[in-house]
Amino acid sequence: MNDNAPIPFLDLVAPHAELKEEIFTVFSTAVETGGFVGGPMVENFERDFAKYCDTEYCVGVASGTEALMFALLASGVRKGEIVLTVPNTFIATAEAISQVGGRPDFIDIDEQTYNMDVIKLKEYLETQCHWDKAQGRLMHRRLAKRVAAIVPVHLYGQPAQMDPILALARQYNLIVIEDSCQAHGASYFSAETKAWKRTGSLGKAAAFSFYPGKNLGACGEGGAVTTNDAAIAKKIRMLRDHGQSQKYFHDIEGFNGRLDSIQAGILGAKLSRLEEWNERRRQAAQRYQEIFREFEGDFALPHTPRWAKPVFHLYVIRVQDREELQRYLTSKKIGTGIHYPVPLHLQRAYHDLGYEAGAFPIAEKIASELLSLPMFPQITKEQQRRVVDTITAFSSKKKREKAATSGRYLVVAG
Ligand SMILES: *Cc1c(COP(=O)(O)O)cnc(C)c1O
Repeated sequence: MNDNAPIPFLDLVAPHAELKEEIFTVFSTAVETGGFVGGPMVENFERDFAKYCDTEYCVGVASGTEALMFALLASGVRKGEIVLTVPNTFIATAEAISQVGGRPDFIDIDEQTYNMDVIKLKEYLETQCHWDKAQGRLMHRRLAKRVAAIVPVHLYGQPAQMDPILALARQYNLIVIEDSCQAHGASYFSAETKAWKRTGSLGKAAAFSFYPGKNLGACGEGGAVTTNDAAIAKKIRMLRDHGQSQKYFHDIEGFNGRLDSIQAGILGAKLSRLEEWNERRRQAAQRYQEIFREFEGDFALPHTPRWAKPVFHLYVIRVQDREELQRYLTSKKIGTGIHYPVPLHLQRAYHDLGYEAGAFPIAEKIASELLSLPMFPQITKEQQRRVVDTITAFSSKKKREKAATSGRYLVVAG
């Protein structure tokens, strides 16, 4: 292999090359039958994805963002209510909350897992809220609003620490909606039930995205809600289709939020490969771990707690001099990403929520250090070695420069 060939951050061509025949068959079926919206391809995929997630129901929708919105609405989140999530996530998590009329509020993340810090969640519920006994609900003292729900995010494909989150939710009568948009097929060991459980089966409902770059991606947009609650599934079927209970009988006002048949057919074909692809991602993560171990690194590698079986949607490390390192990698034709450079509470879009720098120190600190390395099922050991070699070369160069300018060594010019 060419030593200088570009290494992409993610490869959207290889997985489709493997499945070209099947994808084209889906397309011709749709064209030949005229089945573009709804129908058997959507129903089959919903049945198969529910089974995969180990849930009773799956409802296909048009995107992950809509999956979150519909899950919040159908599970009973009302206008003006507070929904708790994390500041280090894709903006869609918070957009969904505010676009159904809720107010997003944030709990800082854990420095090791990058997911919701359950101790800080407990502190928030205990110190910033009070239990309204008469109404059986939790009220935020300062904002004088009900705290209705928690949206833990299984970020980078790593499950959030669900047992304590679910226990607190039960104690305070809160709804839990999982943002599983990066975690198709991840598992969490629930000590409570002494069993491994799929992400998407842990909360009241869960949202998945099938955006092309996700572990299970469409050839376009798509999403789904999984749940064990028949009423929620039924409500979401109405919400995605203009609130219809039958054609042109609108019981509620809904949305145009359906999953296309062609996308559902393609997702069905890809679903049969998801376990294998996730396993290859886990092996690639293991290889990064081993290659990095050979070097005296200044990098924090992903931490996998005992209770997590992640699916490495992203492989994220923490580095010093991040911007400079990223430019260096780009110059060596190695693609990287930053997930995410600005925590949500400091985004201009959420200025009105009134947060200032310092509000969520862990999320803020790591936002300037996170770097996502190339990660996809088809990545090779040679590509990974070159990624690590390039990073460690940069790091030694930086160390020499810093030592030189700190004056610890006498540098004689000439
Ligand atoms: C991708 C993603 C979403 C939104 O999904 P779309 O399908 O792009 O609407 C929501 N939350 C997280 C964490 C995501 O990564």
